[in-house]
Amino acid sequence: MVNPVEFEVRTRARRQFVDITPQVVEKVQASGVRSGVCVVYIRHTTAGVTVNENADPTVASDILRRLEVLAPDDAGYAHLEGNSPAHVMATLVGSSATIPVVDGRLALGRWQGVFLAEFDGPRTRKVSVTVVGT
Ligand code: ZN
Repeated sequence: MVNPVEFEVRTRARRQFVDITPQVVEKVQASGVRSGVCVVYIRHTTAGVTVNENADPTVASDILRRLEVLAPDDAGYAHLEGNSPAHVMATLVGSSATIPVVDGRLALGRWQGVFLAEFDGPRTRKVSVTVVGT
């Protein structure tokens, strides 16, 4: 068991997918774990973590566009802070991803990357990485 480590990500737009795969890979390597799981978790309510394609950036923009259809700005929300679409999107995407660690490496698929999904930026976000294994 390796204690959770955190890193910061400065997002640049209101809504944005940020590829954080390199930072996660670095934390897995630093853990020394050869076989186990890596949990990437975000302690925010208007951002999420997800695994998806990082080869073609239009995939992330398509996902963002679809989330904007599911949680439009003008849906008559009760939450007074005014950022309910971001809260809804964060719940749809989820706040963590669990990825196997095999032979000391993050066992992502050929086209997969780990993304911080920003829905209420720009902000500085903290991402937590926990690597469990032997
Ligand atoms: Zn809010």
